[in-house]
Amino acid sequence: MKKGTVFVLSGPAGSGKSTVREALMSRGLNFHYSVSDTTRKPRAGEVNGVDYNFITREEFEEGIARGDYYEHAKYTGEYYGTPVSQLEPYIESGVNVILEIEVDGAMQVKKRDKNAVLVMLLPPSFSCLEARLRGRGTETEEKIRRRLARARAEVLHFDKYDYFLLNDDDGVEACVRQLEIIAEAQSYRTGNYPDFPTKFFNT
Ligand code: ADP
Ligand code: 5GP
Repeated sequence: MKKGTVFVLSGPAGSGKSTVREALMSRGLNFHYSVSDTTRKPRAGEVNGVDYNFITREEFEEGIARGDYYEHAKYTGEYYGTPVSQLEPYIESGVNVILEIEVDGAMQVKKRDKNAVLVMLLPPSFSCLEARLRGRGTETEEKIRRRLARARAEVLHFDKYDYFLLNDDDGVEACVRQLEIIAEAQSYRTGNYPDFPTKFFNT
């Protein structure tokens, strides 16, 4: 049976990951959005179990010790991680999984799964990124500064990604369409059909 593919969507804070991912998920395609665990506090409007599982530092560290995470990283002082349970059952049953995660986690995923597809999403410029992050109005000035500093480091990992999506002004729909095209191309990769040669000779 054909396995699902892991799609990693990365990009600095304010690049539009959540916006693009939500638009993709609203299409009702063969994607499961992996809900991460985090120790950061919920923003206004975020729902536990939908946007993230908001847990304590102690709970997260226990999870690390038990091996509950497929990948995890620290970002501006908080833990973020992908529970194995958000990923493996879906991939095994042929469903694609989308992870919206930062660069360190993306590198861990690529190491574990050579079939994973790494996508970097960026607005046209750093000044546009800053304007979008400020325009969102969800962070304090101190947090915005930490995120912009982190953004500079993250963009330097550009060449470790398989695909680049440019999130122009009003470019969300175009990014969703490009993700669909990438997903279609991925579905033909040999790595998705590990049993085919054996079946070919035995039937
Ligand atoms: P991220 O999840 O990467 O931190 P968001 O999806 O929250 O980023 O987007 C950051 C801000 O930029 C939000 O206010 C969002 O509405 C806005 N935004 C996202 N994509 C676009 C776009 N293509 N054009 C204009 N504004 C955008
Ligand atoms: P935010 O606090 O803005 O929701 O997320 C901060 C950063 O953490 C973003 O780059 C986001 O993609 C990333 N992130 C969210 N969940 C995970 C996760 O499970 N693992 C890793 N490594 N990063 C994550």
